[in-house]
Amino acid sequence: MERVGPAAGMTTKTDYEMVVGLEVHCQLATRTKLFCACGTDGFGETANTRVCPVCTGQPGTLPVLNKRAVELAFQAALALDCRLAEESVFARKNYFYPDLPKAYQISQYERPFSTDGGLDVALKDGRVKRVRIHRVHLEEDAGKLLHEIGSKRLDYSLVDFNRGGAPLIEIVSEPDLRSSEEAYAYLTALKEVLQHAGCSRCDMEKGEMRCDANVSLRARGRGELGTRAELKNLNSFKGVKDALEYEFRRQAALLDSGRRVVQETRLWDAQRQETRSMRSKEEAHDYRYFPDPDLAPLRAAPEWVAALKASLPELPAAKRQRFQSQHALSAYDASVLASDRELAEYFERALSGLPGGAKTLANLVINELLGKLNAEKMTAGRCPVPAESLGELARLVQAGTLSSKGAKDVLARMWESGKPAAVLVAELGVSQVSDDAQLRDWIEQALRAQPQAAADLKSGKERAIGSLVGVVMKLSKGKANPARVNVLIKEAVSR
Ligand code: ADP
Ligand code: MG
Ligand code: ZN
Repeated sequence: MERVGPAAGMTTKTDYEMVVGLEVHCQLATRTKLFCACGTDGFGETANTRVCPVCTGQPGTLPVLNKRAVELAFQAALALDCRLAEESVFARKNYFYPDLPKAYQISQYERPFSTDGGLDVALKDGRVKRVRIHRVHLEEDAGKLLHEIGSKRLDYSLVDFNRGGAPLIEIVSEPDLRSSEEAYAYLTALKEVLQHAGCSRCDMEKGEMRCDANVSLRARGRGELGTRAELKNLNSFKGVKDALEYEFRRQAALLDSGRRVVQETRLWDAQRQETRSMRSKEEAHDYRYFPDPDLAPLRAAPEWVAALKASLPELPAAKRQRFQSQHALSAYDASVLASDRELAEYFERALSGLPGGAKTLANLVINELLGKLNAEKMTAGRCPVPAESLGELARLVQAGTLSSKGAKDVLARMWESGKPAAVLVAELGVSQVSDDAQLRDWIEQALRAQPQAAADLKSGKERAIGSLVGVVMKLSKGKANPARVNVLIKEAVSR
């Protein structure tokens, strides 16, 4: 086994550009498998409890296509701007492996159901890059091999067919990605779109989203593509990023020393943070694909496709745009709130009845609520604080009754007790004084107590306002609304 591991932070002789194309498998959110009535809920359940003669490849059985899986697959392709084929064909991909009892996987090959799409990917620097999608096809999943129980390594293997026959789509990108960060951003965008559209839950921990990465290098500015390696066993977005960065260093070292990159499949070892050769092109499988005689060609009637398109929910990119224009949010706030469908729905429910309060509410959601949800690994749909209550809290902040610090305390109590905002404000005694008459009274006292600061401020020394605000806060026992106090002090000294 070959291992080349150049140190991180290496410099290369040539300025290389990374070229990446990703092949992503996502499990469709159906109740049952692609060709039988077995449940898709077998993850983490007792092995081989979601099986039948069809998905275990017994002789004499026939596949029956799951209509819901086809609907979700087509919706996913529509969400990815793909062209849908009026007719597509299921093919048998033949190979022998213990997780595949039929010795062939039902997939699509020469005639996939969709091609030529694209996904808009938001990059860190604020640019949006369109990554072309080469094709999306339907296929069934294989079973899962187990080589250990707990931490005990077995000297034999076990096989669990619970996920064998589960419905998948494979999404193949064009080699349009140019860095590990772009690959990461693409996966994030893809997950957001598929989750929003309700096509897949994309839960990586359950294996509902899996990715292979193809990567090659070329001298920057060169047109033709270099020889690629295909990376497998990437179990997280972070894993994809790390593996690509390792592979960049490995391939750059080879090319710099005048050697060649061989086309091969390599396995990512997350523990050792390196890739290892698994099989070369010469050892690649010949799958002997042919159309599956058990399944008729899949025909998509235009009216049916139109109805699917009409039933697609608003997707993240459109939602982001709308949040910016309709609610006057910043690009950042809009992208955070639109990234998750439940969160976006929660936000908009909280916002109804709070005209003009979008920014205040966005701050509360992004700065306070999200942290709590993440800490509890909870989705917005299961948030213990009802959206209406958070809206009420934002209204109190907007009216100046509550400081943002006070709002944070109230929110913490709301999370635990579920009590309405107004009740907790009274209970905690955190309401702010925004009444001008009362504030002016304290300000007069402050100006008398600190004549020097008053004079300094009057002569234009802005910083002098700090000590005056300090006196007012003391007099008010911390309850004066500091923003309003600032305004009123300036008014007072300019008289
Ligand atoms: P295969 O038929 O071996 O699966 P494909 O042509 O379907 O190969 O490509 C598979 C993936 O590899 C696609 O995502 C594609 O964008 C990517 N790819 C192809 N050539 C290169 C290359 N030279 N460098 C990086 N990625 C590549
Ligand atoms: Mg391929
Ligand atoms: Zn079955």
